[in-house]
Amino acid sequence: MPRVPLTRRMRAVSVPGATVEIMSGGENTALESVLEGLDDEQRAAASTLTGPLCILAGAGTGKTRAITHRIAYGVRAGVYDPHRVLAVTFTARAAAEMRSRLAGLGAPGVQARTFHAAALRQLQYFWPVIIGGQMPQLLDHKVRLLAEAAKRLRITTDRASLRDYAAEVEWAKVSTLTPEGYLARAEDGTEQREAPAGLDHRGFSRLYQAYEDIKEDRQLMDFEDVLLFTAGMLESDERVAAQVRQQYRHFVVDEYQDVSPLQQRLLDLWLGGRKELCVVGDAAQTIYSFTGATPDYLLSFRRRYPEAEVVKLIRDYRSTPEVVKLANTLLADRRPGGPTPWPTPLQLVSQRDRGRVPEITQHADDDAEAAWIAAKVREITESGIPLSEIAVLYRTNGQSQAFEQALAAAGISYQLRGSERFFSRPEVRESIAALRTSSLLAEESPDPVPEQVRGVLTSIGFTREAPSSTGAVRERWESLAALVSLAEQLAAERESGFSMREFLAELEERSAAQHAPTVEGVTLASLHSAKGLEWEAVFLAGLCEGLMPISFAQTQRELDEERRLLYVGITRAKTRLFLSSAAARHPGGRGRRKASRFLIPLRKELGLEAPAQRIAPGVGGLSVNAAARKRRAALCASCGTPLTVGTQIKRRRCENCPPRYDEQLFEHLREWRRGYAKELEVPAFMVFGDATLEAIAEHRPGTDEELLAISGIGPKKLESHGEQLKAALAEHLGRA
Ligand code: ATP
Ligand code: MG
Repeated sequence: MPRVPLTRRMRAVSVPGATVEIMSGGENTALESVLEGLDDEQRAAASTLTGPLCILAGAGTGKTRAITHRIAYGVRAGVYDPHRVLAVTFTARAAAEMRSRLAGLGAPGVQARTFHAAALRQLQYFWPVIIGGQMPQLLDHKVRLLAEAAKRLRITTDRASLRDYAAEVEWAKVSTLTPEGYLARAEDGTEQREAPAGLDHRGFSRLYQAYEDIKEDRQLMDFEDVLLFTAGMLESDERVAAQVRQQYRHFVVDEYQDVSPLQQRLLDLWLGGRKELCVVGDAAQTIYSFTGATPDYLLSFRRRYPEAEVVKLIRDYRSTPEVVKLANTLLADRRPGGPTPWPTPLQLVSQRDRGRVPEITQHADDDAEAAWIAAKVREITESGIPLSEIAVLYRTNGQSQAFEQALAAAGISYQLRGSERFFSRPEVRESIAALRTSSLLAEESPDPVPEQVRGVLTSIGFTREAPSSTGAVRERWESLAALVSLAEQLAAERESGFSMREFLAELEERSAAQHAPTVEGVTLASLHSAKGLEWEAVFLAGLCEGLMPISFAQTQRELDEERRLLYVGITRAKTRLFLSSAAARHPGGRGRRKASRFLIPLRKELGLEAPAQRIAPGVGGLSVNAAARKRRAALCASCGTPLTVGTQIKRRRCENCPPRYDEQLFEHLREWRRGYAKELEVPAFMVFGDATLEAIAEHRPGTDEELLAISGIGPKKLESHGEQLKAALAEHLGRA
């Protein structure tokens, strides 16, 4: 029976059946300190240690804070064995943040993971015992296999339809529907969902089955299989179920409004009928229903567990009254009713002092908007807000390019969130391998770990100064810089005795949890991936019809989800908020795009004339011409497809178009670069990347101006290597 120490003042530790004992003063004070910094409702939640418990509250009201303190309190009170608590959060970053906060609150050792990471661990552990042999390899993308499946069934496809099929397969799997189940639900009318891209339900069901068959033949598993296989193992093998249930006794789920039926099934299996469950969520922040997630489980929690305690929080500690007012206005403006009843959201009440009024601006085109944001970022940092406290959030990942270019042009560092997984990047793998080798070869060095890391990474191309270009070289540098600053951050946190071995162990742990390090830079992220996070200043960009709401949101249900997504965006801001849109996509284009309908009530609230304050093109230090040139660089020079991958942007060519450069000249330039880099004693890619050489071989620039028009060549590179490059070109082309 757990023993619960209790202070005289603390009445709220509700542990039915637990022996409660008043402890001596010293221990009580330490325990009580865990509840410090919580308001009364948060305290009630944090000290209700046994489930079922549901915290139902709006954005920024301290839900995540309350559950973190609850776990720490339970551990320190001796009610929870830290190794028996499983906290499930939505992103790897949130999980890692929770782990470090728990360690800070004196409760290390608690497992905080995403559903996916927790399931993967269990699968890895039990697979060899229960099934035997190698576990199937994890498949990164579904598209390639779906293309094969389509070919097998003689279905003609293109990239866009393949992406739609992948999304539909994901939806079916998280909704726990097999191919037959999918078809049956469509035929009996239970599910009114349309089949994707040019297929009927039967056709899609066959495609889904063919995809599953190919996957199985190749011994692969996809993202959803990790959960499905784990659930399958727990359902079919009593020993597995018993062992997992023995291991975990207390479950906490953050962002519960976005749980999918598959995740819920897994959670139920983990619980095995027990009730030690605490869920936390906000129905107004449901933004993943398009993937099969649903707030129904959150909203019906009391029905499933009639004895559940429900705690509501309404004080918003994150945002200023000005930001909160806009958030409330956006929700209040929603159309009542609709196909899925959306409970009246609680009005948030800001606890912070008054701040600056949010700004709504409209710009001539996307580049002008991005340049304005870059200029504003600079202005904000001058007022003392660090870059890591600033985020630019947008609706689709494809929008990031304009901001990357504008920030790079302004010399502001940034990090992309939600793009390729950090630990899967080739340069990160290469760095970790190099660090590992060096730690094996060398004796334990007396140098501080960050210095050792810098030394090893310098040998594979890291420089103190960031390269001036965007694209692949810059991405590589950002990754290496992130590893260096992680070493610095951990060394500072752990103080003395932090060894290279510990650093490598930490990297391994983070890699397993896909927890990418942060760098000192502006965060560029999609609205979806910003969930649960907060920044001092937030830019919500590209708020025009077609992007917000997104063009494919047509039904009321879909439009409601877009509204909630914008609500999530607004409520990420602590003190500064900027909402912007652009009238045209390209510089010089006709400004036909309309600002988002969601901005109408917000403008009214701010007393702005419609449309919003117009900002002239070019404001922000980038001329329209320069912006146009940069924009041209982001389209494939052969077929005009917009480019989003760094190396493709550099080449100005998408992956489908054949190279147009002179291959002999390219080889000549590579040869020249090899010798030249050797002379300078720098890695070859520090001179020019391959993509830049390809562009040079294609365009054969002769003048400085033509050289500067090549992506990857800025004034700095021109000054350092321009003359030598021109000489190498002249040598091959026989120019005088
Ligand atoms: P979201 O819905 O966006 O996930 P949340 O409800 O989980 O938000 P938290 O992230 O826990 O909110 O808290 C928001 C911010 O308010 C954090 O910076 C947190 O430290 C702060 N905060 C929460 N509660 C308090 C409190 N009682 N006193 C001071 N600050 C608080
Ligand atoms: Mg939260």
